Amino acid sequence: MKIKAHKLIHNDGSQVPFIRSPNQGRGTITPRFLVMHYTAGASAESSVNWLTNRDANASAHLVIGRDGSIVQLVDFNRKAWHAGKSHWRGISGLNSHSIGIELDNPGLLQGAPGNWRTTWGRLVPDSEVLVEKRESDNATLGWHTYTEQQLEVAREVSLALVRHYNLDEIIGHEDIAPNRKRDPGTAFPMLSFQHLIEGRDSDDGEDIFKTTVALNIRKGPGTEFDKYTDVSPLPQGTRLSVLKKHGVWRKVDVIDVINNEMDIVGWVHSRYIA
Ligand SMILES: [Zn+2]
Repeated sequence: MKIKAHKLIHNDGSQVPFIRSPNQGRGTITPRFLVMHYTAGASAESSVNWLTNRDANASAHLVIGRDGSIVQLVDFNRKAWHAGKSHWRGISGLNSHSIGIELDNPGLLQGAPGNWRTTWGRLVPDSEVLVEKRESDNATLGWHTYTEQQLEVAREVSLALVRHYNLDEIIGHEDIAPNRKRDPGTAFPMLSFQHLIEGRDSDDGEDIFKTTVALNIRKGPGTEFDKYTDVSPLPQGTRLSVLKKHGVWRKVDVIDVINNEMDIVGWVHSRYIA
């Protein structure tokens, strides 16, 4: 997963399905936080339909289904309406400072073991329920579990977002609106996501560099190869991820959009990237 022009892109270069939601603010944001949610809905499809409907007055940047499918609804540098009235670390109104991910999940269930049901009455087998014994009042709560596929995709996307936007923290809706919200709830492995923040600068995965000068990008590893004239030189500070090494040359994927070109792959001299 990577991000280009504030849209999510698969590693093979194809764009994640994008269905634009009208429910977004004007202007751009600089996200610092990633806020996780559950949809409390019946399916990813129904949640996408609702969050792209004007009547909802709500949206999120991404919806991730139980099968790991992803739909993007809002560019990552635009204000989606997912947090509502919210506070965190002295900041109010987290929509202006965060990216929101909705995970398809019916949320807190009703009933009891052997008869757990969604709020709209669908029976959920015990094998898909995490039972929590709440200490404060000894109540037995049932949370629909997330699927491994869904969490794996969510982790991959979160890591890409954390690295690309250098995010400070991954938090839950329940953290920033504790009196109103319970998502993503006890079934969400928040700790394993918070570890992504600690690992964001580690060497595994993508190596991101920046050009230190205006730098030509070429069709092969050497000055004898033609440069890509429509995008050369890349401006100073252009972000690149290194795909391959050949002597002092690096094959790179250009992360930033240059002259409206989104998918630039070519060779640059390693002396001028850092
Ligand atoms: Zn929420």
